[in-house]
Amino acid sequence: MNKITIREERCKGCAYCVLACKRELIRIDPERINNLGYNPAVFSNGEACTGCALCAEICPEVLIEVFRERGKVALKWQNAE
Ligand code: SF4
Ligand code: SF4
Repeated sequence: MNKITIREERCKGCAYCVLACKRELIRIDPERINNLGYNPAVFSNGEACTGCALCAEICPEVLIEVFRERGKVALKWQNAE
């Protein structure tokens, strides 16, 4: 199963990743506030993630990592630092 992780403690809540995900798997959590004072983005852990990495590419803070499953191998995609 494909999935992403978000470093929520550094998220600034800009919601670019929310707009980027065509599967609507990411949302801004209005119930939580991180140490920076923002409502962070969270992943729904849905099985619909395609591993397209659009969310990771658009994040200006480089907080999203994408894990793609191909057979038994989970590939870790990292945005350029
Ligand atoms: S990798 Fe693609 S499908 Fe998965 S959460 Fe990111 S934008 Fe959505
Ligand atoms: S694009 Fe990055 S900084 Fe903006 S809401 Fe998503 S995870 Fe947070």
